[in-house]
Amino acid sequence: NEDLFKNVISHAKEYGYIFASSEIYDGLSAVYDYGQNGAELKKNIKEYWWKSMVQMHQNIVGIDAAILMHPTTWKASGHVDAFNDPLIDNKDSKRRYRADVLVEDYAEKLLQKAQKEIDKAKKRFGEEFDEEQYKATNPRVKRYLGDRKEILERLGRSLTNEDLADVKSLIEELEIADPETGSKNWTDVRQFNLMFGTKLGASADSATQLYLRPETAQGIFVNFSNVQKTGRMKIPFGIAQIGKAFRNEIVARQFIFRMREFEQMEMQFFVRPGEELKWYEHWKEVRLKWHLSLGLGEKNYRFHDHDKLAHYANAAADIEFDFPFGFKELEGVHSRTDFDLKAHEEHSGKKLRFYDPELKENYVPYVIETSIGLDRMFLSVLAASLKEEELEDGSSRTVLKLPAVLAPTKAAILPLVKKDGLPELAQEIFNELKWDYNIQFDEKDAIGRRYRRQDAAGTPLCITIDHDSLEDKMVTVRFRDTMEQKRVEISQLSAIIKEETNF
Ligand code: ATP
Repeated sequence: NEDLFKNVISHAKEYGYIFASSEIYDGLSAVYDYGQNGAELKKNIKEYWWKSMVQMHQNIVGIDAAILMHPTTWKASGHVDAFNDPLIDNKDSKRRYRADVLVEDYAEKLLQKAQKEIDKAKKRFGEEFDEEQYKATNPRVKRYLGDRKEILERLGRSLTNEDLADVKSLIEELEIADPETGSKNWTDVRQFNLMFGTKLGASADSATQLYLRPETAQGIFVNFSNVQKTGRMKIPFGIAQIGKAFRNEIVARQFIFRMREFEQMEMQFFVRPGEELKWYEHWKEVRLKWHLSLGLGEKNYRFHDHDKLAHYANAAADIEFDFPFGFKELEGVHSRTDFDLKAHEEHSGKKLRFYDPELKENYVPYVIETSIGLDRMFLSVLAASLKEEELEDGSSRTVLKLPAVLAPTKAAILPLVKKDGLPELAQEIFNELKWDYNIQFDEKDAIGRRYRRQDAAGTPLCITIDHDSLEDKMVTVRFRDTMEQKRVEISQLSAIIKEETNF
């Protein structure tokens, strides 16, 4: 799938979705700009999320907190002391890696090997194949899966105990090589804090050390009481937010999958202590349904329940997506206990509690978090939508089958020729529709080429104005996915676009 990934990256550039940041200066590593189509797609993803999380839930409200926060926030949250990645260098290649990712990639390969055996057996035995039994009895599959489990457990233990020497031993025992050069000559593993620091204030002596927020969640926690009181919220309730986050990622590769500046869409759901695991299961299910509602293919998603838990969590799962480079985390659903609110109580001296009128009791609520990377979501949508299709006449086309609700441009208005009053009628239609939809006017090139351009840009509908349109007030609507064409009344266009592209 390396080819698909390369195609996604070059397509994203060619069609104005994503550019390297400050590209004329050769870019900045792991920082990207969204172009004219990318900005629209991103905005539509945000809206799709915000509508389903905030607008559709009576008990969820949204906020927009600042990126810069009081520095004690990050002391309380544990980020100053523990937001680290274990880092390792290869002495020969001088390349730097995340030690845990090297081990996880190794474990993933074992899983792929096991899956290959299972697929082969499935083909051989057909209908009668019992996958669970096969996993439990086939010696090779058992060994792959067993080794994988053992490796991940040991990694988890070492990371929780911060036993970095053991991570190094694991890498040596497994004979993991530098993926780029094959060298196995590693340095020791050491911790590296991922927060970007900056300074507040003019003079060097009095300046305060600040951080660019590494997650949006803390802006929600510190506002818990403000929102609860002014919004008269009753538990259970949620606070949602979309915003930028910054992490000085060690290994920044894989395009917009891992960026140093990115955006998160997070929701913290506050519940009664003791009820958190029920809500955790609830939100896992709701969030998976949200992804499936986009129709990018059920088989592209899976849950990955964490064995290794962060210091603040008592349950955690990822929703993983099958990216061109394999299944990877797209969204996290975490049961964060009362860790954050309690820590902020301690550090601020302010009460962050809820008086529960039913229980007649004051308590620090427990929290379920759903956290999705907007840019990762963008990449998943783009990768799953990009298709190369063979057509009946033997030719091929590149088409970006974006979910219509997310498509940057909903319809393109195309006068067949640049004369005879067709552009004028097309302009009239444009002026009518532009109030409700992001549409485009395109009169350059032959109509076939314009269709192809819109297909590749992901526009779900093309509206063609021809000479007959002047007489019968009808136009041709062409559908991106089926390439089917339909003659419709101009007055029907708005309803058709709505039907095809609505939430
Ligand atoms: P990973 O293990 O991939 O580094 P994480 O577990 O650190 O991710 P969280 O802290 O749970 O991620 O952040 C929540 C979400 O934010 C992730 O599911 C991901 O979609 C997104 N995210 C995290 N880091 C980045 C990044 N560097 N670039 C883009 N998106 C990110």
